[in-house]
Amino acid sequence: MPWFGMDIGGTLSKLVYFEPKDITRDEADAEVETLKNIRRYLTKNSAYGKTGHRDTHLQMNNITIHGRKGTLHFIRFPTSEMGNFLALAKSKGMATLVTTVCATGGGAFKFEENFKREVNMSLAKFDELDSLIHGMLYIETTNSHECYYWSNPTDDALCHKVPYDFSEPYPFLLVNIGSGVSILAVYGPNNYKRISGTSLGGGTFLGLCCLLTGCNSFEEAIELAAGGDSTRVDKLVKDIYGGDYDRFDLPGDLVASSFPQLCSFGQMNSKERRNAVSKEDLARATLVTITNNIGSITRMCALNEKIERVVFVGNFLRVNPISMKLLAYAMDYWSNGTLKALFLEHEGYFGAVGCLLQFNG
Ligand code: ADP
Repeated sequence: MPWFGMDIGGTLSKLVYFEPKDITRDEADAEVETLKNIRRYLTKNSAYGKTGHRDTHLQMNNITIHGRKGTLHFIRFPTSEMGNFLALAKSKGMATLVTTVCATGGGAFKFEENFKREVNMSLAKFDELDSLIHGMLYIETTNSHECYYWSNPTDDALCHKVPYDFSEPYPFLLVNIGSGVSILAVYGPNNYKRISGTSLGGGTFLGLCCLLTGCNSFEEAIELAAGGDSTRVDKLVKDIYGGDYDRFDLPGDLVASSFPQLCSFGQMNSKERRNAVSKEDLARATLVTITNNIGSITRMCALNEKIERVVFVGNFLRVNPISMKLLAYAMDYWSNGTLKALFLEHEGYFGAVGCLLQFNG
């Protein structure tokens, strides 16, 4: 049985595949040809069909899972392509293997019948949040470079990633920014609670950005945002007070999500201003709006729970240093340096890893 863990999310399906490297001669002889072919297909390619990708930079070699040594591979595809994914799996002979795949995320329920019908696979379903935390703790302790923070997040010349020693993690907040956002307070490996969340997440960013700019992918949206200026879209402190507003210690060009007088998109009621902004500006403003809102909710949660470290995960942060730096800055600034924003390299894959780890079939 190949070892798969799947997290079938609202936007992306994440598939982790554990390739055992310690196969004995007897095991190799007993292994059916189809299984060998599937292994070869997965590990020799980094693109599958039109929309499947293997994140080769995230691959983890020489790791141990359930007592076996091997390599962990990380693959993703849009959940909307599930039909094509199942057809591809079928064409590789998956249906001839008697298999159970461990799965989490809403899609584990939605697509359960399709898996059975198309590729004769049963899904062993695991809780999404349990999986997220298990996967995250496992990867963080296995990979010494997993956890990092951004130093000097507001200064492009000085800003860089710095490894963070997360060996004594508890307590921490875990903010999962996927299509929507979940915020968990984690006190121990099996001791956590979901304390908050928001429906304004990565899916909102992508949806609004496509509406406002006509772009068609997350990568395109992020690229546009990188070239834009949100201060041409938002209403700033200086637009209202005419300069720095010293009493609140706010620099004039700061869009402060937790300072209600300021508003995202506040200049867009003016036709003139609307005509003057570019797609890039609108993409940037959307990204900043969504990110600052998440930052603001997170800060309140941290304050309530009296927790000082916040780990941000989820695919919204994929290829998205703008949001990571904004979150790093927001945590630090609004807490006078007491809150620390941390990030993890395998940002969107922990749910999939976690359900693989929980499987003992
Ligand atoms: P979910 O489990 O809800 O699908 P993810 O953690 O996979 O959540 O994050 C989904 C979000 O990640 C999207 O809403 C989008 O903002 C962002 N994202 C990153 N890469 C992509 C991509 N290639 N395609 C679509 N969305 C992406």
